[in-house]
Amino acid sequence: MKQYSIYILLILCINSITIFAQQLPPDPLAYNPQPFDVLHYDVKMDLTQALPSRNTHGRCDIHIRWIENPNDKVFIFHLQGLTVDSVLMDDKKTNATAQGKQEESTFHYSVPAPINKLQGDTAVVIMVYSGTMTDELGAGTWGGVSYGDSTVYALGVGFQANYVSTTRHWMPCFDHPSDKATFKGTIIARKGMTVASVGTLSTNQTDDFTFFEWTHNYPCATYLLTFSLAPYKTLRFTENNLPPMVVYARARDTAATRISFKLLPRMVRSFTQLFGAYPFDKVGYCLTQKGAMEHQTMVSYNTSLAQSKDTVNSVAAHELAHQWFGDCVSPLDFRHAWLNESFATFCESAWSEELFGFEKGFLTSQSTKINRYINTILKDEKALPLYDFSRTAPSSNYPETIYQKGAVVLGMLRHKVGNDNFYKAIRAYLQQYAYKNATTDFLKNVFEKETNIDLDTFFKEWVLQAGIPELRFTVLKREGNSVQLRVEQVQPESYGTYSEIPVELGFVRPDNQPTVYSKITVKTKDETFTINNVPNDYKSILPNQGLTTRSLFRTQSITDITSVSDLNATQDNVSISPVPANGYISVVTQLPYRSISIIDNNGNTITFSQERINDTTIRIDTNTWISGIYFVRVEFERNFITYPVIVVKE
Ligand SMILES: [Zn+2]
Repeated sequence: MKQYSIYILLILCINSITIFAQQLPPDPLAYNPQPFDVLHYDVKMDLTQALPSRNTHGRCDIHIRWIENPNDKVFIFHLQGLTVDSVLMDDKKTNATAQGKQEESTFHYSVPAPINKLQGDTAVVIMVYSGTMTDELGAGTWGGVSYGDSTVYALGVGFQANYVSTTRHWMPCFDHPSDKATFKGTIIARKGMTVASVGTLSTNQTDDFTFFEWTHNYPCATYLLTFSLAPYKTLRFTENNLPPMVVYARARDTAATRISFKLLPRMVRSFTQLFGAYPFDKVGYCLTQKGAMEHQTMVSYNTSLAQSKDTVNSVAAHELAHQWFGDCVSPLDFRHAWLNESFATFCESAWSEELFGFEKGFLTSQSTKINRYINTILKDEKALPLYDFSRTAPSSNYPETIYQKGAVVLGMLRHKVGNDNFYKAIRAYLQQYAYKNATTDFLKNVFEKETNIDLDTFFKEWVLQAGIPELRFTVLKREGNSVQLRVEQVQPESYGTYSEIPVELGFVRPDNQPTVYSKITVKTKDETFTINNVPNDYKSILPNQGLTTRSLFRTQSITDITSVSDLNATQDNVSISPVPANGYISVVTQLPYRSISIIDNNGNTITFSQERINDTTIRIDTNTWISGIYFVRVEFERNFITYPVIVVKE
């Protein structure tokens, strides 16, 4: 009896284990642990017929380890637009079964695990495959394999495809960022053609063909693998103590490319100083028609950017930064894509700082991103959070929100925890998760541990929540060198109330006297500050100016007083349209006003032409203004109101 009951118990246990360890399909927006771990991809591809047809055939040997008991489990791989011709599991022919519908984000093939394997055992799954490589949705979009400008090349992520990672368009693989593996690609091309890819290269030649053997002994997420086939020339850049740097460009582009990449060694050195040693064996870029994309050690880089001879090359800096952020430390799944893009975009500002200093470089770059986010992206994409954002139109897999908003949020985090703490925490994060995966929580935890600062609210308001603060400034009182300033948060309810918005204000003085800056921290929905040491002759207040920080908020209006302490006009008496300005702006005032003046972002009053449309409306011509932020200052009998206006020129 006893034995029998133990036997029953055993069966129950086994059943419950089976239910508990049910194998969930890989989901680009979730992490579903699998019973296997991919260790290495060894792909051989024939690209001799690929130009321009994108036809190929190949074989991919996938080395895996069963990290759970593989009994009743399957190996999962993805392949899109290509045909599986045969599958071997440990040299035995087997079958791959399509699971789900092609249009589902979790669509995949499954291969049964061999019997008699144990947890910890390894296996080799071999896929022989052929067909025409395609791009994402087969619609000339971004990810997958494209042909253009005599180049066949792969970009590792899609903007629209619900599966996000698009290496499956040229190679069978477990196409999920959580499973990183080493790589070897042997690619055959016709003589005269070059194949660029990840890792280090050795070549073999026959009379008609070249074999390019690319070996990368560093773990790599599949979306960071690539190849690009073109009649490339190889440009090399070297500097002591830096990894080899190589750019693949067409003969016609080599001169311009050399100029565009002139500062590449300095870029690598600068990021190495900030983030620690470059994590891989080479720095590489290959020029392609679309891009840029941060493939590990071989960035696909838009040809037209290289042709522009722009030596600042902030896109090259963005992609280089990804080698640390995204490549060396990869997101566990694509909900955390902001960990890649926000840091890479922040690094554009960091690169600006290296070149032009903190104020002219970093702060100016951050201001540009704030303006772009508020005036264009927030309108186009609507309010999105940085983590786990919506992907449906007008958003996508890579909405610009996670770039521009993310970069500014990181700038604000730098300000909050202090410069030394910020970089110390980043280096700790990069070290702790090097060659592995990270999540938003991992980043937050490292920052909290390294800085001893509670970041719960900061992450909740700026990373997890959609929207930004909108601020209305009203000067209530001016007395000597003191100003009483009311600041209201007037953003839509759904954005919530922000509990820490550093706001640096510029008090602009007449006759080119230097602007005086003062910083306040807005912590509640409606708050009044007494600001001392204000020049009594200031003519206007410009927010988000100064020498210390930039914050992500929109200024709704600034109402100020000229001499006496009671207001007459309020912000409701003036309206300005359109925003952004479109060749002109209309100013409609409901009260008689004394004058209108325009102040640029540096506090200078500019001359402008205006036309009176009727008693209440004037039209200001903005055609000759350069893009940027301006302030329309309407002076009434007893006070004045300043409105920010954006001028965008395409
Ligand atoms: Zn990026």
